[in-house]
Amino acid sequence: MSDVRIDDLPVRDELRGKSPYGAPQLDVPVRLNTNENPYPLPEPLVERITERVREAARSLNRYPDRDAVQLRTELAKYLTETGGHPLGFENVWAANGSNEVIQQLLQTFGGPGRTAIGFEPSYSMHALIARGTGTGWIPGPRNENFAIDPDAARRAIAEHKPDVVFITTPNNPTGNAVPPETVLALYEAAQAAKPSMVVVDEAYIEFSHGDSLLPLLQGRPHLVISRTMSKAFGAAGLRLGYLAADPAVVDAVQLVRLPYHLSAITQATALAALEHTDTLLGYVQQLKAERDRLVAELRATGYEVTESDANFVQFGRFENAHEAWQKILDRGVLVRDNGVPGWLRVTAGTPEENDAFLDAVRELKKEL
Ligand code: PMP
Repeated sequence: MSDVRIDDLPVRDELRGKSPYGAPQLDVPVRLNTNENPYPLPEPLVERITERVREAARSLNRYPDRDAVQLRTELAKYLTETGGHPLGFENVWAANGSNEVIQQLLQTFGGPGRTAIGFEPSYSMHALIARGTGTGWIPGPRNENFAIDPDAARRAIAEHKPDVVFITTPNNPTGNAVPPETVLALYEAAQAAKPSMVVVDEAYIEFSHGDSLLPLLQGRPHLVISRTMSKAFGAAGLRLGYLAADPAVVDAVQLVRLPYHLSAITQATALAALEHTDTLLGYVQQLKAERDRLVAELRATGYEVTESDANFVQFGRFENAHEAWQKILDRGVLVRDNGVPGWLRVTAGTPEENDAFLDAVRELKKEL
C-alpha cells in the first residue's frame, strides 16, 4: 500500500478534493440502481456475437476501421426506421458509450475558457465530463416538479451565453421527458445568445411514451442527439454510444477522437446486436409495462412519483432519503440515492425483481 494521496500529486487544481463517479456496485440479490436492462442478451444473439467476434479476431493484428463506417451505417438505419427522420452514416458518430460521445463533444465545443449548462437535477456526468475537459459548468434551473421552465431556462441561457446546452430527455434521475416545444425554445435561445451547440441526451428515449426529437435535426446544424446501446439494447457492458447530427458535427468531433478509439471487437459486437434489434425492442415493451406498474403500485402505496418516460422511476418523498435507501438495501434491494433531497430512484427490473422492490417499500411505508 502507498501512503501517497491524490492531493500529494501535482493534479490539476479543479480535480483536488473531488470524488469520481461512483454508483455503488454492491453484491445484493436485487440490483435496481444503475438503469441497466435486467434481461441478459438472448442466446441466439450471444451466438451471433461469438461468430462476429471470432471473425474479427482473425484480423486483430490490424487496426480497426477508424471511421466505423459499417457500424455507423447500421446505426443510421436503426435511427431512420425508428426515429421518423432519414439519416445516413455521415450523420452518425459512435464511441465507447455515450459518455465518450459527450466527452468528445465537450472537447470539440467546450474546453478551457468555455462553458456548458445543464438543468439540474440531471445526469451528473455532464458536469463531471465538463470538469474533466476544462469546461466551466453552469447549473441551470428546473421547477419544483422537475420540469424545465422554458422562461427561466431561456433567461439562464441569455445571461450565461454557454457554449454547450445539455437537455436530457427523458431526464435522469427524475424520469420526466422535456416537451419538444421547450427544446425548440431553448435551441432558439442558444442561437440568439451565442450561437451554441445544443446536445439532447436521449439515452432513455426508447422507453418514452413520446417520440424521439430526431426530426428536429432538419435545418438545425447546432443540434446534436446522443444515444446509447446501454439501455434499450441491453448492452451496458458493450460500451457503445452514438450521436446523430449534421455531417459537419461528425467531422468536427473527429478532430478530437483518438485514432481507432472503437475496437474491432466493439464494432463486431454492436453490429451483431443491431441484427437483433426487433427482439431487443420487445424487451423494451415489457420494461415499459413494468415501469408503468411500478408507478401505479408506488402511488397506490402512498408514495409520490415523478412522471416517468424512462426505464426507472423517481419516488419519495422521504424526510431522510439516505436512511430510506439504507432500509430498502437492508431488505436486499439496491436502489439509487442520487442526492436529490427527499427522493430515490428505482430502475425497472424483471417482474420478480420489481415485486421484491415493491414488497420492500410497502414494508418501509409502515415504518415511516
Ligand atoms: N446519458 C444519460 C442520461 C445516462 O443516464 C447515461 C447512463 N447512466 C449515459 C448518458 C451514459 O451511458 P453510456 O455511457 O453507458 O452510453
